[in-house]
Amino acid sequence: MRANPGQTHTQSFWAATANASSDRPPLEGDRSCDVCVIGGGYTGLSAALHLAERGYEVVLLEAHRVGWGASGRNGGQLGSAHTKLQPTLVEKYGTDTARALWDLAEDAKALVKRLIDEHQIDCDYAPGNTACAVTSSDFDYLCEHVDIAARDYGYEAYEILDRAEIAEISGSVCYEGAICDPTAGYLHPLNLSLGLAGAAERAGAVLHEASAATDVVCGRSSGELAEVKTASGSVRAKYVVIGCNGYLEKLSPEIGTKVIAADNYQLATAPLPEDLYARIITNRSCLWDSHFQVYYYSLSPDRRLVFGGGVGFPGREPSDMKSVVREHMLKVYPQLAGVEIDYAWGGTLSITLGHMPDFGRLGDNVFYALGYTGHGVGLATLGGQLLADVVAGTAERFDVLAGIPQKKFPGGAALRIPTLALGFFYYWLRDRLRDF
Ligand SMILES: Cc1cc2nc3c(=O)[nH]c(=O)nc-3n(C[C@H](O)[C@H](O)[C@H](O)COP(=O)(O)OP(=O)(O)OC[C@H]3O[C@@H](n4cnc5c(N)ncnc54)[C@H](O)[C@@H]3O)c2cc1C
Repeated sequence: MRANPGQTHTQSFWAATANASSDRPPLEGDRSCDVCVIGGGYTGLSAALHLAERGYEVVLLEAHRVGWGASGRNGGQLGSAHTKLQPTLVEKYGTDTARALWDLAEDAKALVKRLIDEHQIDCDYAPGNTACAVTSSDFDYLCEHVDIAARDYGYEAYEILDRAEIAEISGSVCYEGAICDPTAGYLHPLNLSLGLAGAAERAGAVLHEASAATDVVCGRSSGELAEVKTASGSVRAKYVVIGCNGYLEKLSPEIGTKVIAADNYQLATAPLPEDLYARIITNRSCLWDSHFQVYYYSLSPDRRLVFGGGVGFPGREPSDMKSVVREHMLKVYPQLAGVEIDYAWGGTLSITLGHMPDFGRLGDNVFYALGYTGHGVGLATLGGQLLADVVAGTAERFDVLAGIPQKKFPGGAALRIPTLALGFFYYWLRDRLRDF
């Protein structure tokens, strides 16, 4: 999955159906600017866009291509709320913080939709996001979440679906119940990235691809410029914004101890025959569920099932990924046994121990956001906007997330050993299953 700088997007259904996009030249030589953004996914692109719109001179460095990381490979689901739903957030952080986190998630959803409209990003946004419960206790938890949203936040959009209703809609007998949110939805993730890149450039940001940052040196004293180095140049900047998420690797050991990188896999079937297409996901929303490995799926405009499920360690993807993900898909849809699989691919996400994103500062002039734990289409796009806010001196919303306590992964460097990392991922999934 790691690639040489400059490599094209990983082969996937999203890459095969991506909008046209030209290469950006690598950084050559030394230059200076107001803000150097590292990473060309939703976090970095949204930060670059919002900073450039505010009049900052912005240089963005992307190691590979814009949207090369998770932002070009994910399931495209734009959900409400967070990875942890409101009952857990209220219990862990109290009612006020839980409410502030809910509001931020609502901001994230609205921001993505606004950016798509404002910049006319052609990314097939479709409404409807359905969370499905595999057990009755998972369903109770979903209903508790819906109750809190309605009672405490006046959010009435969720529709509760019982066992028979979700079976009819999904075309699967796996589920005890579900909740559907028509204000959330799904989209083409790579085309969202490419659209944000174009918008950032039109606002004045300069984007360099094949430009991996090899070192970040914070300003040692207030007012001193930070410096970011690449193999062929350097950028001196008043501020640096880091948005590398699951691909951070060794760039910042300090941030790296609070996240773990894990791979997640997807497939896209061949276009479905009419009889199958007519009987699955009849509400045409995207779905995700409380299976042990969190399955998520939707139908593409050309009538394929795009299905996510299966986890692994970065750099050790299965040799027969199609079969691995197909096995998961058949647990939900045994009726698709005869359907060809046209594409399979993986991407790397970053996970925090508390399952909430990690936002913070390194010194006075370096800011970062990562660890969206599988919920980054909205939150990483918002993360970029909040990073722009904090550079501009408005930290109120940034600090809600920066204030969430983040524990370091025990084991430190040992966690880079795949077996241990997978062990942690196992417990993360088990925990997620319990809390949904
Ligand atoms: C398979 C999969 C499915 C997912 N499905 C969903 C979903 O359906 N809904 C949802 O909300 N979330 C989903 N997520 C999570 C979501 O995709 C991420 O949270 C989000 O894309 C993170 O965006 P980002 O910009 O922070 O990171 P990324 O998109 O990963 O971008 C980071 C970028 O930084 C670059 N980079 C790294 N190091 C350097 C360096 N040293 N110098 C320069 N550039 C560097 C990388 O090349 C990469 O392009 C999924 C993730 C995966 C992997």
